[in-house]
Amino acid sequence: MLAPYACDPAQTRGRRFVQAPAPTRTEYQRDRDRIVHSTAFRRLVYKTQVFLNHEGDLFRTRLTHSLEVAQLGRSMARSLRLNEDLVEAIALAHDLGHTPFGHAGQDALNDCMAPYGGFEHNLQSLRVVDQLEERYPEFDGLNLSFETREGILKHCSVHNARQLESSEPGGVGRRFLERQQPSLEAQLCNLADEIAYNAHDIDDGVRSGLITLEQLQAVALFDDYRRQTLADHPLLRHQGRRLLYETIRRMLSSQVYDLIAATQAALDASGPPDVAAVRRLPPLVQFGAEMRDKSRALKAFLLQRLYRHPQVLQTNGQAKQVVRELFQVYLAAPQEMPQAHQQRASAPPHAMAGDTLAVTTLRARAVADYIAGMTDRFAAREHQRLTGLQLWPQGQG
Ligand code: MG
Repeated sequence: MLAPYACDPAQTRGRRFVQAPAPTRTEYQRDRDRIVHSTAFRRLVYKTQVFLNHEGDLFRTRLTHSLEVAQLGRSMARSLRLNEDLVEAIALAHDLGHTPFGHAGQDALNDCMAPYGGFEHNLQSLRVVDQLEERYPEFDGLNLSFETREGILKHCSVHNARQLESSEPGGVGRRFLERQQPSLEAQLCNLADEIAYNAHDIDDGVRSGLITLEQLQAVALFDDYRRQTLADHPLLRHQGRRLLYETIRRMLSSQVYDLIAATQAALDASGPPDVAAVRRLPPLVQFGAEMRDKSRALKAFLLQRLYRHPQVLQTNGQAKQVVRELFQVYLAAPQEMPQAHQQRASAPPHAMAGDTLAVTTLRARAVADYIAGMTDRFAAREHQRLTGLQLWPQGQG
């Protein structure tokens, strides 16, 4: 059933620690199962996508976002005869490295880590599945297959790619040095992510009252389907929520069908015989030109009207303060962290003797790993415990 250019689990480049195959599951199904059972996955439910977790029960969290990405990705993979299980594994893991408080948290942590190699959430997602999960007797991390790890590492700086390459020659860092593409399944997850957040951020944005249906009429991708919906169901003029849902539903479907058609056309035109050929070609998973422009316009609207809304910026400012101050406290006093994180923060004796920067860098990375793993509310509680400041109402945050 799989297309020749799909990832075939029987041809996997394997795991870093060799393990016997599972009796009833393919390698990618096994990856997916490991991800679903991980601690980092369960934390996604209490991590912010755009709206802080305590602002309302119906907003997307990182978990529901990841499930939506998996659903969209699988649906498109099936049509394109790509590997659904691999798409699902990548989608469910793609945000595991996100800090609490969404992009505000990530920006703050990146600032704190600037002297120590920076912080990047894609690389952190890989660290989670490669090193930070502690579930197996024989190795750190989840020991996922190459193809799942490749998909998780969506972006990577050349500097970080060189470091990955030195610890794992020919591994997941290599493609950033050779400027190659990842598998089609990984490419598909990137666009499924985009389709998902563009749609659900409209929904959450309207629900929150920060953006309105009237403002959205300026966005072609939305307004075309709003008009079409009203033409088919004139009474929805008086039912804002149903009008919104039906418009978003049509918008989602049109993007999915557009992507499948444009990608299939690109595949037919270039005819890659296998995955190796896919990696050498330019990106093949794509929208048609018109949809790409419309999708960009929607993104620009959301950036301006929602992500940079004064109310969002204000909570973002508080979130950054939490992350920044937690970082400062733990870096100065690692004993405030749990035992396991203290151990990660302490240099091996002799190995780094006299190298103060190396010792501090090791400690800073352990602190960043600890903070990145926190849920929104745990971070807020820790911040309150350590600083005495209460930035959000009691019992929330
Ligand atoms: Mg995402």
